[in-house]
Amino acid sequence: MKQAPHEASARLPLSFEFFPPKTPEGVEKLRTVRRALSALAPEFCSVTYGAGGSTHEGSFATVREILAEGVPAAAHFSCIGATRASVRAQLQELQAMGVRRLVALRGDLPSGYGLGGEFNYASELVAFIRAETGRHFHIEVAAYPETHPQARSPAADLQAFAAKLHAGADSAITQYFYNADAYFRFVDEVQRLGVDMARVPIVPGIMPITGAAQLLRFSDACGAEVPRWIRLRLQAFGDDTASIKAFGLDVVAALCERLIAGGAPALHFYTMNQSAATLAICARLQGTRQA
Ligand code: FAD
Repeated sequence: MKQAPHEASARLPLSFEFFPPKTPEGVEKLRTVRRALSALAPEFCSVTYGAGGSTHEGSFATVREILAEGVPAAAHFSCIGATRASVRAQLQELQAMGVRRLVALRGDLPSGYGLGGEFNYASELVAFIRAETGRHFHIEVAAYPETHPQARSPAADLQAFAAKLHAGADSAITQYFYNADAYFRFVDEVQRLGVDMARVPIVPGIMPITGAAQLLRFSDACGAEVPRWIRLRLQAFGDDTASIKAFGLDVVAALCERLIAGGAPALHFYTMNQSAATLAICARLQGTRQA
């Protein structure tokens, strides 16, 4: 079973994820990136949040700038190591800023950190946000079509995902993947649990390919599979970044095409604070349908 295919004539909603820059130059560069991407009229832009509050200031400052630009902003919000009191205070801060959308996460901390925190899983954070703020926030949660690396089993991870929906999540964004079948199977499995996909969209997270070493390292760490045929080609390109980018554009645009044809309700781009690759993919999609 699939989500209803998106009408070719309808405009597919897009969203873009950024991380908070660490330097004034990074802040300025991200403004330029956002200006370039605004041509695609995103449904919202989201800003990551370092677990344990390590990026609190930069994350919230970036969220403020996005809102000031007239674009809906989603603040990522991780709970590992946090207390109910600290989460309550931050929710109040976000409400006062005018934020209406959160990406509610557990987050990852180096081992040993986070002891004394009052939340174990994202589902507890979602329930707490709903109890504290009612329907103020649209709550996104993370989904893992290829299974979260710490899950006991794919079935246990699916149940953990369902728990986040039952706790009150409105929609989900997936970890990135390069295997569309993993996404379609995951959506099928969630539907078989009785979840109405029209009510709770599961939006594929798209990671453009612009380099090899960092992508392969990062993917190993977060449990996203880079298929062997892609990995081998990326490694064979060596330092030839032009060929890596051209190949990456082909692979990721084809993935997006397949996801759209199969009924993906929207696309969420992990921009890595760059605009060129996301713009190129969307331009390619526009050649065949309106993205
Ligand atoms: P959870 O949903 O709590 O799941 C974590 C693990 O616990 C899973 O293995 C799950 O199967 C298991 N689990 C859940 N409930 C139970 C239970 N009741 N009993 C036993 N096991 C259970 N990280 C950041 O630090 N900052 C960010 O801004 C950020 N943004 C992200 C955005 C997206 C779209 C995605 C996909 C990930 C993001 N991450 C971010 C990474 C995320 O924090 C990590 O993947 C983290 O390890 C899990 O977070 P979660 O919210 O998915 O956790």
